Amino acid sequence: MKLDILGTGTFFANINRTASAFILEIENKKILIDCGPGTLVRLSQIGLSPEDLDYVFITHFHPDHTSDLFPLFMNYRLSDLLVPGSVKKFPKFYGPEGLDKFLSAYSHNSELLAYDAWGKIKVFEYQSLINIDNYVVKPFKVDHSAFGLPARAYALRFESNNKVVVFSGDSTKCDGLQTACQNADIFVCDASSPKNQASPAHMDTYDIGEISQQSQVKKVILTHFYPQYDDVDLVSQVKEKFSGEVIHGQDLTSFEI
Ligand SMILES: [Zn+2]
Ligand SMILES: [Zn+2]
Repeated sequence: MKLDILGTGTFFANINRTASAFILEIENKKILIDCGPGTLVRLSQIGLSPEDLDYVFITHFHPDHTSDLFPLFMNYRLSDLLVPGSVKKFPKFYGPEGLDKFLSAYSHNSELLAYDAWGKIKVFEYQSLINIDNYVVKPFKVDHSAFGLPARAYALRFESNNKVVVFSGDSTKCDGLQTACQNADIFVCDASSPKNQASPAHMDTYDIGEISQQSQVKKVILTHFYPQYDDVDLVSQVKEKFSGEVIHGQDLTSFEI
């Protein structure tokens, strides 16, 4: 497996840090995990086009994880319209329950039917286990609530050839996340909050350290950074609770697993 980090930020995107998006490559299949603002530009920066994607997985519906989905759909729809037959491959989209309704509503509300009334984009809502090609994806429901509104949020665990890569999505410290990251080779983790600042929306760095230690994770890659905490040494805080490797994620870096 190969992991490309596209975006390690949130809504406060800038040239060095766009919002949540990752590419996981398994046996030449390319999987996009989350699609926040800036994702399409980042894809082009690593030499990929929308047609190179085989699968798209969304951890939850918040716009810092989904807002480039419609530009992505428009790439397919316009290419298909302007040069019929030119789009050789449409990826399959996976996401939380209500994914089809979410995309339909957005399509109508934006008065641009990039998804609805077209029918070439196939979407699948999460089940307990997803078998794709020669690997397995296990979605785990996690607790994530923003401004008093609970989100349908999932951590995603990819297993292939005895290697495990886990994406926390946005999450608090909860049983679902604890189970998801068991013995992970790489745990790409929401690091929104410094120590002692956990909230109903996000873990803090001590939570990350504790959950990684308990689950015997090998390597933690921190992501989902807020610029308000740029001066805080988040890595050292996680290391106070976790004896494994901790990396401060950077856009446009990659890892072989
Ligand atoms: Zn969120
Ligand atoms: Zn987020």
